Amino acid sequence: QSQQVGFIGLGNMGSRMANNLIKAGYEVTVHDLNRSAMKLFSERGILTKESPFEVAETSDVVITMLPSSANVLDVYTGPNGLLRSGNVLRPWLFVDSSTIDPQTSRRLSVAVSNCSLKEKKHNRETPVILDAPVSGGVLAAESGTLTFMVGGLEEAYLASKSLFLSMGKNTIYCGGAGNGSAAKICNNLALAVSMLGVSEGFALGQSLGISATTLTKIFNSSSARCWSSDTYNPVPGVMEGVPSSRNYDGGFASKLMAKDLNLATTSAEEVGFKCPLTLQAEQIFMELCNQGHGTKDFSCVFRHFYSGKDE
Ligand code: NAD
Repeated sequence: QSQQVGFIGLGNMGSRMANNLIKAGYEVTVHDLNRSAMKLFSERGILTKESPFEVAETSDVVITMLPSSANVLDVYTGPNGLLRSGNVLRPWLFVDSSTIDPQTSRRLSVAVSNCSLKEKKHNRETPVILDAPVSGGVLAAESGTLTFMVGGLEEAYLASKSLFLSMGKNTIYCGGAGNGSAAKICNNLALAVSMLGVSEGFALGQSLGISATTLTKIFNSSSARCWSSDTYNPVPGVMEGVPSSRNYDGGFASKLMAKDLNLATTSAEEVGFKCPLTLQAEQIFMELCNQGHGTKDFSCVFRHFYSGKDE
């Protein structure tokens, strides 16, 4: 691949996604505020840069994978951000894979389209940004099997599909700017609520004398079956290889779920939409974080809210 790809945000997800791009043959340049994260790349001969601005100077495409909207704004519009340089840019495409609110994705899309390109690329005189959050977690990031939900200009999505497929196995085009971010927060609110529902069902079942193993068999062959019951069961010992069976370590941190629920409730409020279950789920996950369990997998709600055995 001759395209120069910049990658910013080398955390749990980003480091693995960048590795898959390198494996696929892209020329990758990386940046992170965390020096030790960068060192893991420089030691292998991968070019590292001191700021997002410097990454933009050497890249045709820049991908960002950062924790929150504030970090994304900092990386794009901060003093040493990607959009500096008198707004004449080398990258024709920006891809933000962070989970952030759709309103911020839409504002960024406007900021990017107000810039111009040093050289016309893909028949374009202005750069484009796609919001492309992912589903799948660290294991899928590692194995290159993420699902990308993509919002923004469809032509840009089609032109960059092979880039997505180097890091994932599914890509779904969701419509205009911000729609990828909207899809992601809706997915995660439904996941949080289903995890709470399954946990509550198992806990009541146990209190009424039915074991979680038996109830899992019932759920999984009945109408309550869902990802939280058949793939990611929250009750310790029911399934092997899931966080609940290893003290809720690894997986998807409760603090990230609390963040995503907050994005959903804030976005809902902005459009005057009522979402009682999301509000309740947000409160439960916030409480979990306040009790010091923010880094445990989100399925630990079962232990802390339902099993009666708070450890
Ligand atoms: P992480 O905290 O492990 O990594 C984020 C990285 O960004 C860190 O290395 C940090 O140093 C860097 N960073 C933060 N601010 C920066 C800045 N201003 N400039 C440069 N670097 C900066 O987070 P993660 O688990 O990799 O998640 C990233 C995003 O992906 C989040 O939005 C998260 O919600 C989403 N996500 C995570 C998972 C998961 O299972 N971990 C799954 C799907 C989506």
